Amino acid sequence: MIVTTKELFAHAYGKYAIGAYNINNLEQTMGLFKGNVDSKAPFIVQLSKGARSYTHKLMLEAMMNTADKIFPEAVFAIHLDHGDEATCMDCINSGVYSSVMIDASHEPFEKNVEITKRVVDAAHAKGLVVEAELGLLKGIEEDVVAADHVYTKPDEAFRFVKATGCDSLACAIGTSHGAFKFKGSQKLRFDILEEIQKLLPGFPLVMHGSSSVPQDEVARINAAGGNLKGASGVDASQFLGAAKLGVTKINIDTDGRLVWCRVHREFFRDHPEKFDLRDPGKVFMPEYAKFIAAKNVLLGSAGQVDAARAYIQASKKK
Ligand SMILES: [Zn+2]
Repeated sequence: MIVTTKELFAHAYGKYAIGAYNINNLEQTMGLFKGNVDSKAPFIVQLSKGARSYTHKLMLEAMMNTADKIFPEAVFAIHLDHGDEATCMDCINSGVYSSVMIDASHEPFEKNVEITKRVVDAAHAKGLVVEAELGLLKGIEEDVVAADHVYTKPDEAFRFVKATGCDSLACAIGTSHGAFKFKGSQKLRFDILEEIQKLLPGFPLVMHGSSSVPQDEVARINAAGGNLKGASGVDASQFLGAAKLGVTKINIDTDGRLVWCRVHREFFRDHPEKFDLRDPGKVFMPEYAKFIAAKNVLLGSAGQVDAARAYIQASKKK
């Protein structure tokens, strides 16, 4: 069942966070759906601009519709991750997406408001919802590189949400994109979330760049010929604390890539005579499903799918 992120957030708010997972290909899609169905979690599939151009956007869209048929018990949103205005409009008109993110966070405040408002108006007219972003995450976000964190200012967040009518807001609180998030110990600014929650009670917030970069995963990759030095991520024990402060969506991309990398490196190290792409693929899909199911436990979304489905269906009847 394809739903909007707004519907998922309404059920999750203050209790748990929904996992938002980026996928690029068939094996990830199968593993993702299997992992969420196995752990009975509602979820968000994220398709980035990069994913849409990796093979073809129509291939991804067809995979989403097909996955909905293969896994009728799945409850999920199809979300564009880090869109520019043109990509948002394309997704809004595709008939496939239920949610888009407009990321104009690198623009000055007023310009960000202007662009976001245009996307919100177009999306709402077609029944889609919009995530916007305020503040800058350190690291590389599609084409935009930020040298340092620009934390979200709570009073600006309030004004931004009121001015744009966006349905959720990605805030910069110290997480970053990629596998190298922190030098030394992590510092997440939960005080910012708290302030925003006070100003915007009940309004869904989003945490980007929240992979954990598990050290055992990194060690296995390096033992199988990889070279990831100093990789580190977000402590997953923080997820539920963030959920209580209004974070309803937590984006996880890098960790899934690490699973892919570890499976394939180990497979070809241990089976140098093999060359059939399906052989490591058969290992990857269940491993990825296992990874997703374990994340959902940490997010608190595991076991919530029946309640979320019932809640969404009941609110549709009203
Ligand atoms: Zn992001």
